[in-house]
Amino acid sequence: MVTTVALLLFALLVLGFGFKKLAETSKFQLFGEMVTQVKTDQKVVALTYDDGPNPPYTNRLMEVLEQFGVKATFFVIGRQVEQHSETVQSLQRQGHELGNHSYSHRRLVSTPKAAIADEIHQTDQLLQKLGSPDRIHFRSPYGYKRIRLPWVLAQLKKINVLWNVDPRDYQAVSADAVVDHVLAQVRPGSIVLLHDGGGDRSLTVEATARLIPQLQERGYRFQTVSELLAVQANPS
Ligand SMILES: [Zn+2]
Repeated sequence: MVTTVALLLFALLVLGFGFKKLAETSKFQLFGEMVTQVKTDQKVVALTYDDGPNPPYTNRLMEVLEQFGVKATFFVIGRQVEQHSETVQSLQRQGHELGNHSYSHRRLVSTPKAAIADEIHQTDQLLQKLGSPDRIHFRSPYGYKRIRLPWVLAQLKKINVLWNVDPRDYQAVSADAVVDHVLAQVRPGSIVLLHDGGGDRSLTVEATARLIPQLQERGYRFQTVSELLAVQANPS
């Protein structure tokens, strides 16, 4: 009897651990939709910048993007939007897409569902007040998904927009290391994760300025996340 109970407990433990692992893998989300890349033969790619707005780095990025005529997607943190609303408006004016990266950027793992929904609503409302359209995409902080957040996202009919190219720009030793990583990993339909927020992002600005012409040389065009998702919906 004791052995049976012990075995059962062990099995549950293994199952629980396996389940947690599964929920954390990049290709799987328990509820709702998630996307890490788009299936297409077209050489299109989306550059995404997280954790801003963060002047002066966001502004410097805008200058670089404008120089090359590239539109990107910025997954912003609500708290930062409140502090730097004029930067958000500049992004909107220049035709970049604004995405929701929660209000506080805390790990939405064991947070109650109502609080998760608040994190999402607050940032959506801030962005809409500044002129963003009704449909705003979401990216979970740290890419965490587990169980509650996907459930809330499914209720809100929001896709969790993740990525399939992560050069870890926030800890890279050089702009070239970021560029090399992206060039090695990029595929048609890729979503590239970069950061304009969270500290001094000079390296990311520099990497972006080097990366864009090299991707263009390889035949890539740049799209916002919404444009990229439309490619998936209407393959041609
Ligand atoms: Zn983030």
